[in-house]
Amino acid sequence: MRATTLLNRLLALAGIRVLGVSVAGDTVVVDVGLRRRKLVCPLCEFSTSNRHDTRRVESSWRHLDLGRWRVLLRARLRRVCCPTHGVRVEGVPFARHRSGFTRDFEDLAAYLATKTDKTAICRLLRIDWDTVGRIGERVVADGLDPDRLDGLVEIGVDEVSWKRQHNYITLVTDHRRGRIVWGAEGKDTATMNAFFADLGAKRAAQLEAVSMDMGPAYAKSVAGSKDGKTKGHAPQATICIDPYHAVAKVTEALDKVRRKEWNKLRKIDPDKARKFKGARWVLLKRATKLTDDQQATLRKFRRRGGIIWRAYRLSEAFRAIFAGDLSADQTEELLDRWISKASRSGIDEFVKVARTIRTHRDGILAAIGLGINNGRAEGLNNIVRLITRRAFGFHSAGAALGLIMLTCGPIKLVLPHERSP
Ligand SMILES: [Zn+2]
Repeated sequence: MRATTLLNRLLALAGIRVLGVSVAGDTVVVDVGLRRRKLVCPLCEFSTSNRHDTRRVESSWRHLDLGRWRVLLRARLRRVCCPTHGVRVEGVPFARHRSGFTRDFEDLAAYLATKTDKTAICRLLRIDWDTVGRIGERVVADGLDPDRLDGLVEIGVDEVSWKRQHNYITLVTDHRRGRIVWGAEGKDTATMNAFFADLGAKRAAQLEAVSMDMGPAYAKSVAGSKDGKTKGHAPQATICIDPYHAVAKVTEALDKVRRKEWNKLRKIDPDKARKFKGARWVLLKRATKLTDDQQATLRKFRRRGGIIWRAYRLSEAFRAIFAGDLSADQTEELLDRWISKASRSGIDEFVKVARTIRTHRDGILAAIGLGINNGRAEGLNNIVRLITRRAFGFHSAGAALGLIMLTCGPIKLVLPHERSP
């Protein structure tokens, strides 16, 4: 078998013919030509036999490695004049528009990005992390289900920070299908309005429930402003408060109490205060997930009693309401009982958080009524948080969003050898 014939087989790329091969450094350079005569616009279906001209420089694409060798494809491309997009370098079947990598290489990188960490991917594929980010964006733009905004009935909207120093992305979840269908940079009313602009009035009218946090920004976009001056985009939809947002607020109150007590103790007994500081995780972790040592610390808190123990009991009682084993009626009863207990607790932080919970009581109960329970929403939420921590190294919100959509969006990632030939 001739070397070029063998390479044609090995590379397994549609629509190309191997013209020659050479080795440079750690790279196998393969010169290829397109089989098709016709030129295709890289951005649309337009094709023609008329070339505008031929590029003077060669185009190249990194392909999957052969053993320890990098593989670089090289071709001389022509330019096409598309009636819609003007003069463009012709599209090729084996690579995405404006990419220096083949589809096979990009699909592999995108798959790995959803499964493993930055260091492993960069070392294995010999590309940097921002390149992984750009690849992710291209794979998402290419493969995301175009009908993902159809048939939405119950959705959730939430913000996630993708970088240190308060850089936020807003994500919209399809609760029924358990996947993220939309995302954009920002976390204010305008960001949510952009979602509704993409959704359109007709599909917005189909929404029955929108779950969110307790802040005013998203609610304003959905239901309109309280004074009625700004109209909402889906005023018919019930606004629900995701229980985990409420739980987070109560946990925050507990942490404030703990910190205050610690500061007091530090002034009186610095030694004791140091031991006490490590107790943070014991108090904030779910009781059922504590190690033996942590449980012992917790028992000490109980024996000591006092404000921290009472605050802890209140926050655990609140968490238990949303464990998912109560009926809607029981939840309502327990929630009301909790609100009144916390209001009368005499602990400032809990009096305050009880007021917030009371304001959003109906929204919280609406979420429970719809079965938007903690477990389900939190499950997806945890994956997103894991992924965004990995995305901290990216330099653009688009790349972070791409990684989130690759992992939690309506997209099917297929590895090169799994694709039908
Ligand atoms: Zn075109």
